[in-house]
Amino acid sequence: MSKFKVLPIKPELAQEIREKMIDRDGHQLFVSIANENGYGPCRSCLKQFVTGDRRIVFSYSPNDVDHPYNETGPIYIHAEVCEPYQNTHAFPPEVENGRIKFPLVFRAYNDKGVMIDARLQNGETANETIESLFVNGTVAFAHVRNAQAGCFVAHIDRAGDENENTEKIESSPC
Ligand SMILES: [Zn+2]
Repeated sequence: MSKFKVLPIKPELAQEIREKMIDRDGHQLFVSIANENGYGPCRSCLKQFVTGDRRIVFSYSPNDVDHPYNETGPIYIHAEVCEPYQNTHAFPPEVENGRIKFPLVFRAYNDKGVMIDARLQNGETANETIESLFVNGTVAFAHVRNAQAGCFVAHIDRAGDENENTEKIESSPC
């Protein structure tokens, strides 16, 4: 089992964007059609777009905390409901080795949301790069971005927290 969890944007946010067609910065949104260069990926299902896919672009700030490192930028999702990424113990192969290859940058943050490390892939797989970032115990979470366009792709949490909590409860005498 990997030591991390790859998370797409929250399903509630994707639903809100599709229903209201206004993002949290107040931008009026519209649907565009992906051409052969519009690979995305969709930040909900984490699959690259194919020509003809209907998508919505909106402003997104990936950190839960309000912080100067919480960069707001454009991301795309499918205009129609899609299944949020499920295989969270591994970095999505469709992003790493999809029909269009693009370089990834991995940024690591502490629990205050301050960026404390950043790496380009250097001959390793995305999974290996993520594992190596989390060796530093002060890394609380990481973000993966398109290293060329700068856009946010996915959030990475440490895995196992939920299981640890479950074990604590099970071993309690109460
Ligand atoms: Zn999608």
